[in-house]
Amino acid sequence: MEKLVSLCKRRGFIFPGSELYGGLAGTYDYGPMGVLLKENIEQLWLEHFRNGRDDMYGVDAAILMNPKVWEASGHVSGFADPLVICETCGRRFRADQLEDPTACPECRGKLSEPKLFNMMFATKAGASEDDSATVYLRPETAGGIFANYKNVVDAIHPKLPFGIAQIGKAFRNEIAPRDFIFRLRELSQMEVEYFVKPSAWEAAFEMWRETMHAYAAALGLPQESVHELEVRADELAHYSKRTIDFEFDYPFGRRELWGLAYRTDFDLSAHQTGSGVALEYLDEETNEKFIPHVIEPSLGVDRTVLAVLASAYREDELGGETRTYLVLSPKLAPVKAMVSPLLKNKSELVAKAREARAALRAALPGTQIAWDDNGNIGKRYRRQDEIGTPFCVTIDFDTLGEKPEFKDTVTLRHRDTGEQERLTVAEAAERIRAALT
Ligand code: ATP
Repeated sequence: MEKLVSLCKRRGFIFPGSELYGGLAGTYDYGPMGVLLKENIEQLWLEHFRNGRDDMYGVDAAILMNPKVWEASGHVSGFADPLVICETCGRRFRADQLEDPTACPECRGKLSEPKLFNMMFATKAGASEDDSATVYLRPETAGGIFANYKNVVDAIHPKLPFGIAQIGKAFRNEIAPRDFIFRLRELSQMEVEYFVKPSAWEAAFEMWRETMHAYAAALGLPQESVHELEVRADELAHYSKRTIDFEFDYPFGRRELWGLAYRTDFDLSAHQTGSGVALEYLDEETNEKFIPHVIEPSLGVDRTVLAVLASAYREDELGGETRTYLVLSPKLAPVKAMVSPLLKNKSELVAKAREARAALRAALPGTQIAWDDNGNIGKRYRRQDEIGTPFCVTIDFDTLGEKPEFKDTVTLRHRDTGEQERLTVAEAAERIRAALT
């Protein structure tokens, strides 16, 4: 894990939040490579969960919501974890995560009795100091979906079953943020609320379960590292009739990656009562009115990023040297190809390489094609290996015609094997395009 954290910092994937001022627990910042990786992971989620389907719609709701949303959903009264404090060293822990909930895992001091600690961040909206101005940073994106259910029905008139998808930030004042970006106080989620007739929940549950496995495979997560945990009936949240936790074998152990829950009609019923606005669905065929039931695939972006990075991390010996590389699927890799002149002080090589890069960019619009002429070619390859760039394109003296049979060809180097082949720029563009589809 330390090696992965160090690579993330060194290569611009993930930095500790507010590092300049000593950091802020539970926050991390995505750097230039991390932003691209995260966007690609989100894009792949959109492809699997929202786009290209007739039954899915998107929203992008405000993070700050009327606090009544969180009163109705039960978060104000119940979104709490059991907090214990060590009477000797003063450290704080989540009682349900301790092997021995009576002794401090750090100093063996006595722990206090557990006290419920609400994890929502509260802040004030407007200049008023009284309680009426208290608002919460949303603890899950789902609230913004349920609150817009009626708007979507009124605007689009979708037929059941249909779903609403959203990607966005959520905030949880975790008692013990830890394990890099696994347990954060500021996180991102990709959530779907899928509305069904009450009798149709099982089929929808299975459909999303398969979609989640297909997404895991597309992310390159090894099948043997993803496990389903059927949450026991006596451990289900009060609103859920069935929940499966998708767990992943992280370097620090098997932990929850994503969740899939059958939430019954709990949320819409609670918001109907809370708001006083009818949220029933009118089935035009049967003229029946009812509150739809909900299946919720809920995926944490950051936990997905960490699972992808941990699965992709490799070390091997190549050309007599130890190297570190990321076996990211080309679709996820932040940079798809790096173009490079063999020597940076030979103007003919540089000009030809610039030409090749322009041709690749024209052939593959919108694709991240990087340029690197720093240090020797081996070092450049190592740098690209460490960020998971699947292809490197090098322009050498043969390109210029030193060996006439290779004139105007480039070398295309493959990340995982280090193998190189000689191709025209157009052929190289086709290889890259094929890897991205
Ligand atoms: P845990 O039991 O690990 O605290 P949870 O069951 O409370 O998680 P959910 O409320 O089901 O999590 O949230 C849905 C998803 O959001 C999780 O499966 C996870 O991917 C992500 N998630 C939840 N809490 C965090 C967090 N503190 N940091 C990063 N991701 C999180």
